[in-house]
Amino acid sequence: MRAVRPKDTDPELKIRRLLFARGFRYRLHVSSMPGSPDLVLPKHRVVVFVHGCFWHGHGCHLFKVPATRTDFWLKKIQGNRERDRRHETKLLADGWRILTIWECALKGKHKMPLREMVDKIENWIVTQDRTVPQLIIRHV
Ligand SMILES: [Zn+2]
Repeated sequence: MRAVRPKDTDPELKIRRLLFARGFRYRLHVSSMPGSPDLVLPKHRVVVFVHGCFWHGHGCHLFKVPATRTDFWLKKIQGNRERDRRHETKLLADGWRILTIWECALKGKHKMPLREMVDKIENWIVTQDRTVPQLIIRHV
């Protein structure tokens, strides 16, 4: 499913560098885990997914239903969404916390300022309150 998740896209790289600069250490593209998370922070038991809004069917301004082969695409995207949910359920059951960063937070006219995003992510990762198992970053 390489096409589903663009690797090493520019904003993703920037986030990674900012997290690294703040002392976070991670593994990249861990294919042995459900959904092959883009980043895994073992120390904090956190996985990170960067989701393309089209491929993962985000209901936002970046998602447009294709005019051709519409049924094919809708079915494919629905399948992707269901698979995402299965992976998330498995990871949560194994005690991982999940950070999902949607593409629309990273680019386009409604993107979130990078530092604000990384502040939010850092706060969530290091919080001692582990009762918040999921953080979703999307367009503002
Ligand atoms: Zn989106």
